[in-house]
Amino acid sequence: MPLLDSYGRKIRDLRVSVTDRCNFRCFYCLPDGEPPMARKDTILTFEEIAYLSDIFVSLGIEKIRLTGGEPLIRKDLVKLVRELSKLKPALHDLALTTNGFDLPRHAAAFKDAGLDRVTISLDSLDREKFAEITAVDALEKVIAAIDSARKYGFEPIKINAVIVRGRNDDEIVDFARFAREQNLKIRFIEYMPLDSGHGWQRDQVVSGREIVDAINAVYPLELIDQNRGSETSWKYSFADGSPGEIGIIAPVTEMFCGACSRIRLTADGQIRTCLFSTAEHNLRDVLRSGAGRDEIVEFIEGVVMKKEPRHYINDAEFVQPDRTMSFIGG
Ligand code: SAM
Ligand code: SF4
Repeated sequence: MPLLDSYGRKIRDLRVSVTDRCNFRCFYCLPDGEPPMARKDTILTFEEIAYLSDIFVSLGIEKIRLTGGEPLIRKDLVKLVRELSKLKPALHDLALTTNGFDLPRHAAAFKDAGLDRVTISLDSLDREKFAEITAVDALEKVIAAIDSARKYGFEPIKINAVIVRGRNDDEIVDFARFAREQNLKIRFIEYMPLDSGHGWQRDQVVSGREIVDAINAVYPLELIDQNRGSETSWKYSFADGSPGEIGIIAPVTEMFCGACSRIRLTADGQIRTCLFSTAEHNLRDVLRSGAGRDEIVEFIEGVVMKKEPRHYINDAEFVQPDRTMSFIGG
């Protein structure tokens, strides 16, 4: 039986944050400097993550995405990838989201260890603007990361770009051109209120609709599928048959909670049933209390039943969660 929540949604997708630390300071995520670090002994070990992932997969999880913070900061991440890839074929898809800074050094080892896909975050194609957004002068490194992902066979490569009004909304068409020239799947993400600086403002959100319209005016787009299932993005191809793909992730203006199939495990072993959850469920303590596999399964099933029906970003009483994107695992 797959994991089902109380609204009948099947939970198939687990995001595992392997660290809440990061070497970038993206203004929309972690502008305030290193977060107060979780005590080292609270961070799940690779053995614990692998054991819990095995249980999740036995409960119907088909996709695992490693994220963070910056997952490549975690030493020997390739060892975890190797362990998790043993869960295939029940695990259909093992993916990684990274800022790309350290990817060239590890791409070959990740491929060899069984990683299926990488998503690389890139919010500007202009060197200075990239440095302003991330606080690190590393555009060249991220471009090199895309090349290394291609070299080691991670295609199709996905790029995440968070578009924020007044910061990089003038680059939407440049990104579309980049997708065409480099044969990339560029996913434009609406800015969400999950930044550690609590600086999010509604008028900074560039809606998915605006992004599609801007691209369409220059490079006409065709919606690939009217029904996106549990996918977070609307996908578009270029009408002229050019390579590349555009994805639109619009959680703020076009809520997709009704089809959500995701849960998250934080680096310190808390289950979060929604990005915007204000409560967490301490799986680490259950695991470390010596609970048997059946008890862990029962705990997970109980937590999934508490998954929120939707997020409340657009409600007047919305409260930003205490833990921000870099803790939760985007
Ligand atoms: N450090 C890795 C990276 O940047 O790809 C993985 C973790 S990061 C938290 C995962 C994704 O969340 C990134 O693509 C990032 O752009 C996105 N993200 C972070 N803060 C966000 C926010 N406030 N709104 C929308 N997306 C955000
Ligand atoms: Fe780090 Fe990723 Fe957050 Fe940027 S988006 S600060 S790279 S965790």
